[in-house]
Amino acid sequence: MRRKIIAGNWKMNNTVTDSLELVRKLSVELKDVKDADIVVCPPFTALYSVGQEIEGSNIKLGAQNLFWEEKGAFTGEISAAMLKDVHCEYVIIGHSERRNIFKETNSNVNKKVKAVIGRGLLPIVCVGEKEEERKANKTFDIICAHIQRALAGLSADDLKGLIVAYEPVWAIGTGVNATAQQAQEVHAFIRDLVAKNFGKEPAAGLRIQYGGSVTPQNISSLIKEPDIDGALVGGASLKADSFLQIVKLSLQPGS
Ligand code: PEP
Repeated sequence: MRRKIIAGNWKMNNTVTDSLELVRKLSVELKDVKDADIVVCPPFTALYSVGQEIEGSNIKLGAQNLFWEEKGAFTGEISAAMLKDVHCEYVIIGHSERRNIFKETNSNVNKKVKAVIGRGLLPIVCVGEKEEERKANKTFDIICAHIQRALAGLSADDLKGLIVAYEPVWAIGTGVNATAQQAQEVHAFIRDLVAKNFGKEPAAGLRIQYGGSVTPQNISSLIKEPDIDGALVGGASLKADSFLQIVKLSLQPGS
């Protein structure tokens, strides 16, 4: 049985004050949740303060990006060691906004995944097709390329704790989520692909989140699917009420 994981990607939102206000509400309301991992991913500027605030709680800290080099002349970048230093446990890698706006390639994603694992952090590796790719029946080709190239050179052991987030680009921030059936089909494909490349055991243990316009209204149908192990939530993670509802609905019996 895979443990559910619900993560909030705050993107470029929230000052330190806003972040603390939000995470305080979450930690009070979620203090009794034991059966899932709950992760918040604030912007870099709020990581340290949020990390201090949630210390000892059951909310974990994640970053939204990093650079693969250890340290040096890389103006504006943040390393895995720096994230570890502020008590991050998770790092989102290859989000479609980074791929599309900042031109991150599959090869960049692979270097970042290796840097994260090398420091003992857990990557949340985002994969997903664009609308035109889905319309051209290329969804599985794109997912296959994203997965194979993100995980290239890793061992089955490296996959322990690694998380994949299936985030169809057409569903991110649009209010149009993938249906439970569409998401399940891709999640099953990812698990199968990982089984073929790394073996049945790592594939069976791999947690695959769905992301893309997740709300309290659609989480219950998504989370019931056998290969959907949680959610990566953007917009709805910025309000305590909606994120709390998503977490609670994810944990209802039968989910
Ligand atoms: C995201 O950006 O990871 C995301 C899923 O955003 P939203 O929930 O707003 O679609």
